[in-house]
Amino acid sequence: MTISEADSKHEFYVVDFDRTLVDSDKLLEVFIEIADTHYHISKEHIEKIDTDIKQRGDTFFLAKYVRDQLAENDQLEVWHELEKQFIHESRALNYMLPGAVELLEWLAAHGKRYGILTYGDPLWQRMKLTAAGFKHVRHIILEQKEKGRFISNWQTPDGTFRIPEAFGRGEVDYVVLIDDKAVSFTEFPNGPSKGYWVLDPAYELPSQQGNVLENVIRVANLNELIPKLDH
Ligand SMILES: [Mg+2]
Repeated sequence: MTISEADSKHEFYVVDFDRTLVDSDKLLEVFIEIADTHYHISKEHIEKIDTDIKQRGDTFFLAKYVRDQLAENDQLEVWHELEKQFIHESRALNYMLPGAVELLEWLAAHGKRYGILTYGDPLWQRMKLTAAGFKHVRHIILEQKEKGRFISNWQTPDGTFRIPEAFGRGEVDYVVLIDDKAVSFTEFPNGPSKGYWVLDPAYELPSQQGNVLENVIRVANLNELIPKLDH
């Protein structure tokens, strides 16, 4: 067995993207700003759609909406320009939340395997991952909120976990899920797998609240999380 095989046994880290690693509000603001200033897609109009969607508790389909509108008007090239501009302007920006860089550095320094598991509209999730510099990081976009259930499906009868191809395959003894939303931990496997619910009580959103299982520990932010991780 090579060293990397020995390392890959043990655990796999599943890290959420929106509001865990990155400032999702800022990504949206930048997108809206660019749509408004360069492409005359009014900010008020977009913000209204976004508010309507959020009030219904749905996920965000704004990017898809804008693209569909442009496609209907035979302006798909405008969409491609907008997408390119969003990614281009994002290069100069930092979307990372406090502790996110440190967490990724900690994972790398300790030889931990990880992947990003994100929930949402695939078009918008892909755009954000690219804009925030995660295009080449292993990721899976889920269209269901219950990540715990998804991870449970990796478990084999002997209790170990078979890592999906998109996360680089292999077998591990347990999974660690890091996420800001309680609902993400629904049907999360029992210990030794564990969850870290990263949510600052001072800035809670209704969509982040809920009950979590016993093997899910709540922390206020990523800087508080890092010292709790197993070396
Ligand atoms: Mg999130």
